[in-house]
Amino acid sequence: MDIKIIKNENPKEKPPVDNLGFGQYFTDHMFVMDYKKDIGWHNARIEPFGDLVMHPAATVLHYGAEVFEGLKAYKLEDGRVQLFRPSDNMKRLNNSAERLCLPQIPFEDLMESLLKFVDHERDWVPDKKGTSLYIRPFMYGHDPYLGVHTVENCSYIIIASPSGSYYSDSDLSPVKIMIEEEDVRAVRGGTGYAKCGGNYAASVRACDRAEDKGYSQVLWLDGVERKYIEEVGAMNVLFKIDGIIVTPELNGSILDGITRRSCIRVLKDMGYEVQERKISVDELVDAMENNKLEEAWGTGTAAIVSPISVLAYKGREYQIKDGGVGELTNKLYEKLTGIQWGLIPDEYGWTVQI
Ligand SMILES: *Cc1c(COP(=O)(O)O)cnc(C)c1O
Repeated sequence: MDIKIIKNENPKEKPPVDNLGFGQYFTDHMFVMDYKKDIGWHNARIEPFGDLVMHPAATVLHYGAEVFEGLKAYKLEDGRVQLFRPSDNMKRLNNSAERLCLPQIPFEDLMESLLKFVDHERDWVPDKKGTSLYIRPFMYGHDPYLGVHTVENCSYIIIASPSGSYYSDSDLSPVKIMIEEEDVRAVRGGTGYAKCGGNYAASVRACDRAEDKGYSQVLWLDGVERKYIEEVGAMNVLFKIDGIIVTPELNGSILDGITRRSCIRVLKDMGYEVQERKISVDELVDAMENNKLEEAWGTGTAAIVSPISVLAYKGREYQIKDGGVGELTNKLYEKLTGIQWGLIPDEYGWTVQI
């Protein structure tokens, strides 16, 4: 793959590492590649970061033709940069694209563009503990006309943002979650398993309402029966009930999270029984009432592990154990971030160094 490099002649000053926040600052360059139905993918380049110019009829603006990914690059003590399971993200991008009728990108080209771009921007990977370079690959359709159809013009872009630690100090902070009874995030047959912007657009209202009531996120129920647990906010969710780990099975409306996958693997290796199956909200309430819900946590690239302290359902609040961070939740966080930050050996071959 031929990648042209157009250097940014006006590099920005790097932001202070103590106050990066999330997705506020961007590096000096972006990777861009274009697609036209007749010629396929072409014009791969790393160019100065800047605004995009779009036709006002562009498909993405009207019909939401967009998919994305999210992963992080970490600075190791020896100066190398490390990615976590990047090939899983690149495969999922093509999976999501297939659902939205966006064109596939050859896997080797996805990997090469990602690794070359991160290498090019490596000075932007912050080195303070817990910080990372958040990488956002995305693809969108931009045909310059209004009919609904499979797009013929597309772009694939990678941008990157030096971001702070998700937790302000090194301790995990538990969150209060509201079980959402009205809105649903996705339905089977829809786009729930695809990482696409439209899923997020549809979920903001419920999250806003939960925040107004003092909760950080919602726990989504399935779209058909409103009975089975699906995800928490934009994270997968796992429970420890009476010593056994249970998590909703991948049923088409749940996103196949890479952190979820990694947690399941690590938990099995720790000797836990992990059940991927349907979990009804009634089963969960029952477990809480009988003091059998020992731990609950969300998983996703941003927070890695996010402990849940309180679940609210039908106007009642249930505190999980003492409302603190569960022992296993903490262990998982230490294990996964340990591998990601290069502090403990990666026995799984999940990391890629640049
Ligand atoms: C990205 C995402 C997740 C988490 O996936 P990871 O690969 O672990 O980051 C979970 N649910 C939704 C809806 C997501 O978009």
